[in-house]
Amino acid sequence: MTARTLDGQKIRDQIFAELSDEVRLLTAAGVRPGLAAVLVGENPASQLYVKSKIAACQQLGLSSALLTPPATVSTLHLLAVVEDLNRDNDVDGILVQLPLPPQVDTKRILEAVDPAKDVDGFHPVNLGRLVSGRPGLVACTPAGCMEILRRNDIKIEGANAVVLGRSDIVGKPMALLLMHANATVTICHSKTRGLPDLLRRADIIVAAMGKAGYLEADWIKPGAAVIDVGTNRITDHKEAERLFHGFPDRLEKFRAKGSALVGDVHPGAVNIAGALTPVPGGVGPTTIAMLMSNTVKAARLRRASPKFSATQSTTSAR
Ligand code: NAP
Repeated sequence: MTARTLDGQKIRDQIFAELSDEVRLLTAAGVRPGLAAVLVGENPASQLYVKSKIAACQQLGLSSALLTPPATVSTLHLLAVVEDLNRDNDVDGILVQLPLPPQVDTKRILEAVDPAKDVDGFHPVNLGRLVSGRPGLVACTPAGCMEILRRNDIKIEGANAVVLGRSDIVGKPMALLLMHANATVTICHSKTRGLPDLLRRADIIVAAMGKAGYLEADWIKPGAAVIDVGTNRITDHKEAERLFHGFPDRLEKFRAKGSALVGDVHPGAVNIAGALTPVPGGVGPTTIAMLMSNTVKAARLRRASPKFSATQSTTSAR
């Protein structure tokens, strides 16, 4: 059996088509949603991520602004940048690209973002809303994973779901979203014992560990749906041989390029799982789609209740 490919690019295109209609309506009503991205320093991966987010804004007709403080920026300076964006009425969404340099207090910066403009869904207010099942801005990667499951008609209600990873950005919100959709959720982390046995009972697996090909194919229940969030660049030849054994095309490409992008799930999972996201081309595109969706939603909500934003801004600055 070969797993059905859960194509993230296709879902991204569907979401973009839906958002285009909404952006057209908002623009006709005099509201052009806008995203401001803060990119600190010159990390090439971060530059690439931000570039694709700005390109998505342009594709959808959203306005965008890019702020590029130097890698030497202080926490206080960055707080001032965020506060300016909080006050700027043309900005609906604020994105602070992570990671920030070590001298910057990342938590303080993320908590300074107005929750009404927190399109990454990282602010504790939005995480709290998610915990209590209230409407808010949900972290883009887990929200995108839910879109992948739903739009592929994968039954979530009553399913046994295992989430690998408990970060604030992916694992925790993912587990909450699955729980709210009535799955029975097990959250695993680096101290979890007996991982293979837990996984073999899972109908849905979401792997977000950041460990190349860690999840072995024979830990997966035949027919399970597997969402691979992991994005790992490998350069080691031995590792490539372990992962691409049985995938001569991928091994060939690795040899030609000297590196490859792989998920947390061993590629051999394609022969066991019922459905599987590719890496790249699975979760990545839906993350960007949900960022756009959150920006449009933030624009809509802020215009519907302008005072909401102002109130949140004052409290977030503390
Ligand atoms: P993170 O903050 O480093 O968290 C990793 C989590 O994995 C931690 O909770 C850790 O447990 C857990 N873990 C580590 N080893 C484990 C093991 N052997 N068994 C079970 N759990 C284990 O990473 P993250 O920010 O959540 O990101 C995870 C991965 O997703 C990365 O590869 C990242 O690049 C990728 N990602 C992709 C996208 C996308 O759009 N495609 C977006 C975001 C992230 P402890 O808590 O015990 O340390």
